[in-house]
Amino acid sequence: MSTNGNKTEDLLEVKNLQKYFPIKGGILQRTVAHVKAVDGVSFTVKKGETLGLVGESGCGKTTVGRTILRLTPATGGSVIFEGQDVFKLNSSQLKALRRDMQIIFQDPYSSLDPRMPVGESVGEGLLVHGMRDAKKRNEIVIEMLRKVGLEDYHARRYPHEFSGGQRQRIGIARALDVSIQSQVLNILKDLQAEFGLTYLFIAHNLSVVEHISDRVGVMYLGKMVELTDRDTLFRDPLHPYTKALLSAIPIPDPTIKRERMILQGDVPSPVNPPSGCRFHTRCPFAVDICKTVEPSLEELKPGHLVACHVAKEQVAEQKRTMGIGAAITTPTPEPPVTNPSAARPDSQS
Ligand code: SF4
Repeated sequence: MSTNGNKTEDLLEVKNLQKYFPIKGGILQRTVAHVKAVDGVSFTVKKGETLGLVGESGCGKTTVGRTILRLTPATGGSVIFEGQDVFKLNSSQLKALRRDMQIIFQDPYSSLDPRMPVGESVGEGLLVHGMRDAKKRNEIVIEMLRKVGLEDYHARRYPHEFSGGQRQRIGIARALDVSIQSQVLNILKDLQAEFGLTYLFIAHNLSVVEHISDRVGVMYLGKMVELTDRDTLFRDPLHPYTKALLSAIPIPDPTIKRERMILQGDVPSPVNPPSGCRFHTRCPFAVDICKTVEPSLEELKPGHLVACHVAKEQVAEQKRTMGIGAAITTPTPEPPVTNPSAARPDSQS
């Protein structure tokens, strides 16, 4: 996303976003159920920041990205980009917006059409932006591919013919805005520093997200379960699901051992998600209330939003304990001074 602002102003505001995919059945192919891929997700992305969105496959993170861009229509909620309601834009306004708003997926393979040579995929954005001259478009595509370290002939190849790293480069080439084509850019952070870009970085790999993000949102089964700044998330995760994801990251130092938190079972079906907390069927800390009452995403600590009954109780307990500790260690206040001049050792009477 292109921006020239600072990190205090919201560039993107996603409110209660929902995306349900209908499931058709029977002879008449009526809608018999819905896959609730995204079910009430809210967050903001500030100008110039990188928000990482993580979670297992099927958690809805990619659908969030696609829905924000209106690559797939939303079922509910709203997306505000630089003050504009994205869901209310007409097609020409949307085209204009897409010059400023692109999404980088960690696995660009999922964002490339497998039936389309990558040259066409890369050039698609130029076409959308009104560049009808095929020759000129092709020249720019070749230039973009070269900038990210690929060869001219790669334009005629299909996505499955590339390695993961090459696909990543194709993704970057696709995301290069027409206004910055003349620059040689192949590192996202450099792009951001130089052009004040804002990223919504969607990935399933927490290590990658840690490297690039300012803040991180963790999704589980269509819901945002934790959202905070990167350092807090990796140092002091509060949601059990985040803790489990973090415990699975290998530590390069063999002398450091981390206790692995193995989650039981598979991710439940988003067609019929569990009642209460959607994570309760796999959560080692679940208590009775988790099965019936859905926890809301609440700011348990400054800037640290979590959707978990137990974490909420733990944080409240910590605050109570700290409150008592502070009361014990706070020095007894001095009695009020009734004669100010008597209280000042250097006072002259
Ligand atoms: Fe686990 Fe309950 Fe917290 Fe859900 S609300 S994450 S089930 S402890």
